[in-house]
Amino acid sequence: MNVAVVLYTSDLRVHDHPPLRAALSSCDQVVPLFVRDRAPAAGFASPNRLAFLADCLADLDASLRERGGRLVVRSGDPVAEVTALARECDADEVHTAAGVSGYAHAREERLRAALEAEGRRLHVHDAVVTAVAPGAAVPAGSDHFAVFTPYLRRWADLPPRPVAAAPRTVRVPEGIGSEPLPDRAAVTGTSPGLARGGERRARRLLTDWLRSGITRYEEVHDDLAGDATSRLSPHLHFGTLSAAEAVQRSRAAGGPGAEAFVRQLCWRDFHHQVLAARPAAARADYRARQDRWRTGRAAEEEVEAWKQGRTGYPLVDAAMRQLRHEGWMHNRGRLVAASFLAKTLYVDWRIGARHFQDLLVDGDVANNQLNWQWVAGTGTDTRPNRVLNPVRQGLKYDPRGAYVHRWIPELADLPAPRVHEPWLLPAAERARFDYPEPLIGLADGLDRFRQGRGLG
Ligand code: FAD
Repeated sequence: MNVAVVLYTSDLRVHDHPPLRAALSSCDQVVPLFVRDRAPAAGFASPNRLAFLADCLADLDASLRERGGRLVVRSGDPVAEVTALARECDADEVHTAAGVSGYAHAREERLRAALEAEGRRLHVHDAVVTAVAPGAAVPAGSDHFAVFTPYLRRWADLPPRPVAAAPRTVRVPEGIGSEPLPDRAAVTGTSPGLARGGERRARRLLTDWLRSGITRYEEVHDDLAGDATSRLSPHLHFGTLSAAEAVQRSRAAGGPGAEAFVRQLCWRDFHHQVLAARPAAARADYRARQDRWRTGRAAEEEVEAWKQGRTGYPLVDAAMRQLRHEGWMHNRGRLVAASFLAKTLYVDWRIGARHFQDLLVDGDVANNQLNWQWVAGTGTDTRPNRVLNPVRQGLKYDPRGAYVHRWIPELADLPAPRVHEPWLLPAAERARFDYPEPLIGLADGLDRFRQGRGLG
C-alpha cells in the first residue's frame, strides 16, 4: 500500500482539485489533511474567517466521507504537522496547492526540505488557488504584469487547464488520529449577518448565479442597493469554489454579463500574480510615492469614526456599517470607503487594510492589500491621483438612497438626493437626525492630500 498526504490550504473542496486527483492516481490511499495554523500570517486570525472556515471544513469532511474517506485535522506548524503525519502513515508523497504569499512560499520551501530529508517528495500544484498560475502569463523581460489590461489580454488567450471531476472514492488508511473539527458556534465576535461557508453552498451559489444573476452583471454590478454581484468572493478565497471552474463555466454561459464577470475573476488572478512576484507588497508600497500620511490624535479620531461608520458622509458610513454587520462589503462601497480613508483623510492605507482584514470574510492578502494600494495610489493604478468623491459616488451608484437607508436607519426618513448630503439641510432640520456632521470638509480633505503629496 502506498500512501500520499494531501495538504489542504486555500482549496477546501473535492471538485476540480488537482492535488487530490494526482495523489489518488499515484497512491492507493490518501490522507486529506488540514492544519490549523495559528500564525497570524496564515490568515485565519479573525472571527469571521474562522467561523466560515469551520463551515468549509465540516462540508469538506462530509464530502470526503461520502466517498469513503474523511478529513484529518491537526493544529500547529504545518511543516511539523505534515512531516509527523507523513512519518506516521509512511507516505511517499505529499501533494499541495501552490500559494502566492511570501508566507506560503516559505512554508513550501521548509516543507520540501523537511520531507526530502526523510526521502519523501513534495508535489506543489499550480493553478489550484487561481485560474491561471502566477508566472504563466508574464511580459517579456519581467516576472509579472504591472498593468491590468495587457495582463487580461494575455490571460484570456491562455488555453484553460482541464477542470477535474470530483473523485468517486477516497480511501484513507485506518488509525490516523484527528482533532475534532472546529465548531462554528464556538467562535465568538462574528458579524451577525455573516454568510455560511462550504463547497456545496459555493456550487449552488455558482449554479444559481450562472442561471440568472450573471446575465445583467455588466449593467448592475455597481448598483449598491441592488446587491447584484455574485457574492462568491469568500468561496473563492477559501477555495470551496475553483477559480478555473468558475471562469470556464462563466465563459460557457456567454454574453456581455459573463464577459464582465470573467474580467473580475481576472482581476483576482492579476493581484495574485503581483503578490507572487512582489511578496513585500503585502506591507510595503508597490510604488513608493513619497506620501507623508497623517498621524497624531486628530487622524486617530478620524480613523475611529471611519471604522464606526460615523464620518458624516452617508455612503462611506453605510459601507463601513455593512462591513461590520456582514463581514463583507459591496465592491463600490470598498472603493469609496478606502478612497475616503487613504485619499481624503490621507491616512496610511495599511491602517485601513488592517481593519478590512479584521472583518472581511473574504479578507485576502493579495486582493485586499493590492486593492488598497490601487486606491491609495501606491499600487498598480495607472491614475494614482484619482480621488472618489463620496457624494458624487452616492448620487451615481445609489441614486434612490436605498443603500444608505438600509445601513443608516438614522437617515431613513431623508429622501434622495438629500440623503447623500444631509449637511445641506437647515440646521434645525438636521438636529432631528442623530447623525454626525461631516468629519472634515471634502475640500479640506483634498487640500490636505495635495499638501501631503507636496503638490502645492
Ligand atoms: P463579483 O463582482 O461577483 O466578482 C466576482 C469575483 O471576482 C469576486 O468574488 C472576486 O474574487 C473577483 N473580483 C472582483 N473584483 C475584484 C477586484 N477588484 N480585485 C480582485 N478580485 C476581484 N476581494 C477579495 O476577494 N478579498 C479582499 O480582501 C478584497 N479586498 C478589497 C479591498 C478594497 C479596498 C477593494 C476596493 C476591493 C477589495 N476586493 C477584495 C475586491 C472586490 O471588492 C471583491 O472581490 C468583491 O466585492 C466581492 O464580491 P463578489 O464576490 O460579489 O464580486
